[in-house]
Amino acid sequence: MANSSAIYDCVIIGSGPAGLAAALYTSRDGLKTLILEKFYPGGQINNTDRIENYPGIVRISGPDLIEQMQKQAVNFGTETKPGSEVTALEKLSDGNIEVTCDKTKYAARAVILAPGSDYRKLGVPGEAEFRNAGAGVSYCGTCDAPFFRGKQVVAVGGGNSAVEETLHLAKFAAKVTILHRRDEFRATKVLTEELLAKVAQVNSNLIIKYSTIATAIEGKGKVQSVKLKNVKTGREEDYPCDGVFIFVGMVPNTGFLRGFVDLTENGFIVCDCAYLRTKVPGVFAAGDCRVGAAMQLATAVADGVISAMMLKQYFRDPNWWNESVSDKLQPHGW
Ligand code: NAP
Repeated sequence: MANSSAIYDCVIIGSGPAGLAAALYTSRDGLKTLILEKFYPGGQINNTDRIENYPGIVRISGPDLIEQMQKQAVNFGTETKPGSEVTALEKLSDGNIEVTCDKTKYAARAVILAPGSDYRKLGVPGEAEFRNAGAGVSYCGTCDAPFFRGKQVVAVGGGNSAVEETLHLAKFAAKVTILHRRDEFRATKVLTEELLAKVAQVNSNLIIKYSTIATAIEGKGKVQSVKLKNVKTGREEDYPCDGVFIFVGMVPNTGFLRGFVDLTENGFIVCDCAYLRTKVPGVFAAGDCRVGAAMQLATAVADGVISAMMLKQYFRDPNWWNESVSDKLQPHGW
């Protein structure tokens, strides 16, 4: 039984862009809204000092954008409780959802799960020290490629993100070297073939180094080189570059949801990608934590808005939860 006496219309777990956008919409609609956040608002976007791809805002830092988003939601009545780590959720017999944080329990008519995800790290020396686009280490080509116009960059990884982002980087950088730890890409055939075709072009600015790992990122104040090791021959080299882009997968912050909603093998929340409904009626998933997420600020915000809109649909007609969307919009094998 919840020990916070109020029943919230909506409890949102996570106060990154998805959670805050959802809160703005639900509270502005007069719904009693609470955001629970493990540490402090913002999540991953707090690590970004220059956002240039959020429509309508020429340039802003992650912390500044989050401060504005939080203010906006709070102005409409959203309650926030930073420092509240959610440990369990349960669907109650009365249809409400109980959310447990340490010793406090909250009851909600609906929940929006927006805990985000983190970039998987290489865990090599220099990675944390140079962790922002200004210093040279980035995890998002779409976000940071324009800062490396005319420069030499190294990309790490062999999956779809690594190949797609490498192709994107090559439009900006003078030279892009992609390192993959094996000698065969994990990325789909079509993407891999596109990469190989670009590499084979005369005067290509793309180089592939197979069976190669980065063992350290080095420089004074900013990235100047990366230490490479060929895992087959053991040969090591210092490779000059201005930036290192790391694309070795994402780790969603969803461990606490195991057993409550369905998760993919990689931990992403299974939901229908049109309305963001999980298998538990009244529980939505929004942002980078869900299957099929585009992992962008603007799409996380869009997810927050969609979940808040669909939540009203659920309140109007709880049976809507089981209505199917068109086959084309079913969750896929992300
Ligand atoms: P991913 O598919 O898990 O690939 C991660 C890549 O990083 C793999 O090549 C892996 O090598 C490598 N890797 C992992 N840890 C490493 C380490 N410590 N050092 C060096 N390399 C390491 O991740 P993703 O590319 O981010 O994609 C995530 C999901 O999104 C996938 O399901 C993907 O298909 C999907 N996605 C789809 C599209 C699209 O359809 N256009 C675009 C982007 C992403 P190994 O291959 O040796 O394991």
